[in-house]
Amino acid sequence: MSDRICKFYEVLVGLEIHIQLATRSKMFTAAPNAFGQPPNSLVDPQVLGLPGVLPVMNKRAVEYSIKVGLALGCQIAPFTKWDRKSYYYPDLPKNYQISQYDLPLCSSGTFDIPDDDGSTKTIRIRRAHLEEDAGKLIHEAPGGHPIDYTIVDLNRAGTPLLEIVTEPDFTTPRQVTTFAQELQKIVQYLGVSEGQMQMGHMRFEPNINLHVTDQTGVVHRTAITEIKNLNSFSVLEKATAYEIQRQLHQWLETGALGQKSTYGWDDAREITVHQRDKEEANDYRYFPDPDLVPVIVDDTWLAELKRQIGELPAARRKRYVESVGLSPVDAATLAADRHTGDLFDQSVAAGAAPKRVATLLLSHGRRLANESGKPLAQLNLKPNRIAELANLIDQNKIAPAEPAGKVLERLLQQDAPAEQIASELGLLQSSDTSAIEAAIEALIAQNPKPLQDYKSGKQAAFGALVGMVMKQAKGLNPKLVQERLKQKLG
Ligand code: MN
Repeated sequence: MSDRICKFYEVLVGLEIHIQLATRSKMFTAAPNAFGQPPNSLVDPQVLGLPGVLPVMNKRAVEYSIKVGLALGCQIAPFTKWDRKSYYYPDLPKNYQISQYDLPLCSSGTFDIPDDDGSTKTIRIRRAHLEEDAGKLIHEAPGGHPIDYTIVDLNRAGTPLLEIVTEPDFTTPRQVTTFAQELQKIVQYLGVSEGQMQMGHMRFEPNINLHVTDQTGVVHRTAITEIKNLNSFSVLEKATAYEIQRQLHQWLETGALGQKSTYGWDDAREITVHQRDKEEANDYRYFPDPDLVPVIVDDTWLAELKRQIGELPAARRKRYVESVGLSPVDAATLAADRHTGDLFDQSVAAGAAPKRVATLLLSHGRRLANESGKPLAQLNLKPNRIAELANLIDQNKIAPAEPAGKVLERLLQQDAPAEQIASELGLLQSSDTSAIEAAIEALIAQNPKPLQDYKSGKQAAFGALVGMVMKQAKGLNPKLVQERLKQKLG
């Protein structure tokens, strides 16, 4: 039995994230940046680290990184440089990785995430810097046969990699995953990475420790451990939760605070396993890369990138709820990808009621998108036509259910005024009151049984009467028919 009692403990988790940027070429050379190609086909002398080859910076990768930095509320460094991080490993032919050490491109950001209790949790971003990815080491032969040697595939080597480091502000595994998911949405929205976890576009490394307060009030700080290379949200959450409990129980059972070290996740056993004690920064012998010029980010460039970003998803969601009056769910759906949000905004700007446009896009629009297997924004619907259709509904000229859906469907192939299409399809409702009056008069003249029923107090007969008036003439507006009929019958 141990005499250690934990009165309470604080969880401190920081997150390190590596994101592969979707540039066409690699970080410091023109070799293509692609996935799923034959092994070692995306290499050139620079990737192979052959002598006498000089790196040239990929400007697009810098721009993508600045966009992510801005989305995370970071300061963008007006002056930054490249450093060599030395280590010897077969996946890194140059024996050093080009990275950024003391002058990261982005620093000191803050990003808000929703917490489980409905409150907002602010995560501080320590830094975000650019570097190049290493190649891949493969320990089994193609087909899964065991081998007693290692295969090197350098296709990934030199891919632009954005490394984001947060402060240890997360206090629950759930917050860690929420942040990761929000970050995925951001990079996809900005179009800087596909953010596909199964392709390794995003890799997460939580670093975890605890401050345990014992029964006498003394605080015991466990050593920080880092769990390497987690590439799914569920594993990220499970591994973080496991490691918190492992550290707590290690202290409870042995009093040990552990060593600063690196762990991996064993997916089969669902536990974290010790890999190695951690290197210190000076083991990497960082020094400025003499082959590359510094990066100067001037105000003009920064302003242009801010303009390109436009409104970020979180701001857009907020605007849709607060000033447009959409429900949080509808707002989130429309703001989830940039193009759908743009289509909605442009349709409203073309002169339609926002809620009507939202309903139109979220009901018929989404159905048509599902049927065609394409995203809503790629259906080629014109904002002015969507606005026209929304206005027809609001003017009672077309019914919002099936008829509006049919007009929207026709608009996929034919760019013509919505009213013209509705008319061609015979879907326009007549709001002509004289036609409605005439139909009601005709019905009264026929004096059918439902009319007698209604007059003798059977309210249920009203629906049948509306149907009978509608049958007198094609395309009458049912809402108006109901109103007029009620008036007529007192
Ligand atoms: Mn890194």
